Amino acid sequence: MILSERISSISPSATLAITAKAKQMKAEGINVIGFGAGEPDFDTPEHIKDAAKKALDEGFTKYTPASGTKELKETVCRKFKADNNLDYKSEEILISCGAKHSLYNTIVAICSEGDEVIIPSPYWVSYPEMVKASGATPVILKTTRKSNFKVLPIQLIEAITSKTKLFILNSPSNPTGMLYSKDELQGIGQTLEKKGIYCISDEIYEKIIYDGQEHKSIAALSDRIKELTIVINGVSKAYAMTGWRIGYAAGPKEIIKAMSNLQSHSTSNPTSIAQKAALAALEGTQEPIGAMVAEFKRRRDYIVERLNSIEGICCLKTQGAFYVFPDVSELFGKSFNGNEIKDSMSLTSLLLNEAKVAVVPGAAFGSDNNLRLSYASSMDNIKEGLDRIEEFIKIISDK
Ligand SMILES: *Cc1c(COP(=O)(O)O)cnc(C)c1O
Repeated sequence: MILSERISSISPSATLAITAKAKQMKAEGINVIGFGAGEPDFDTPEHIKDAAKKALDEGFTKYTPASGTKELKETVCRKFKADNNLDYKSEEILISCGAKHSLYNTIVAICSEGDEVIIPSPYWVSYPEMVKASGATPVILKTTRKSNFKVLPIQLIEAITSKTKLFILNSPSNPTGMLYSKDELQGIGQTLEKKGIYCISDEIYEKIIYDGQEHKSIAALSDRIKELTIVINGVSKAYAMTGWRIGYAAGPKEIIKAMSNLQSHSTSNPTSIAQKAALAALEGTQEPIGAMVAEFKRRRDYIVERLNSIEGICCLKTQGAFYVFPDVSELFGKSFNGNEIKDSMSLTSLLLNEAKVAVVPGAAFGSDNNLRLSYASSMDNIKEGLDRIEEFIKIISDK
């Protein structure tokens, strides 16, 4: 069997692999505590489910326009105005089967072979693979703990070449949990403007932020940067609707048109009743978000403090999303039963097999000194999981 060159270069999602292994252990009756989840552990709010039931009962079960219903696009436009002070028209909006689908359509619509796409690391696992699928080349721009894992304009300037077509920004970030301030975005935005480079701004965690911080969209900084930016968002994370598969993109008309064409020949419209549910999510009460964020904050405070109390682990206080990304490199070189902790992957394996705790190795996000722990899990689980990690770290030894 000969696969296409482009598709053979794509790696499977490492986060899914570890979740699968943990699931298998659970199925075998092993009590595993999972920190791998990439989705809220809350149920979709009732009024959103009701809207889907109503859509079903009313027979809203046929094809919709391939790029999404007019009413949902109009609702998304109102959302952008109210939340981000961004003016978009319906023809500048695409509704897709999840934000991931919007991201894929954007990358494929913009990038061709020979183009370079700058992706800051630590990055969300799918960005480099999507870029490879488009035929373009991912250029990884490394950020560190010193800058809170954020790109500095000077770094961006150095990474730009004559081939650079696109820059991918994700704030708040999965996996780092960091949020760019308005000033930081300004520095990035001005650099992109000067060089005429497109920007994808993945704002899927916009609503999940803490400590009175404010989320700002880079597209709202100037008219010029808005023309270069495709904003990606969706209902998965804010409304606990990961399974419904509704995301959306906003950007220049010509790009959205190209993405719509692609979507019309690949998936067609996102599920009709899920579009009705997404409409209810965006238009209805926003109260469930507040409750969810309050609970996430309580867990964030706890997990950051606990991790920092463990010798050899250093965890930044995150500002958004539901992940922490502790540095565990001080543990490298130690060992357990003759198994040396060499990197994030070997530590992850030991934690799973010996401590029965599932985390995701930082290597999957381009940062081998770290682990990613999701706290989209009950407080009891989090406590138990941290107890296990703490116990395990105590018994590993210097070589
Ligand atoms: C979850 C996630 C997405 C995808 O969300 P869907 O709408 O469920 O496809 C996109 N970007 C990041 C950074 C995510 O964590």
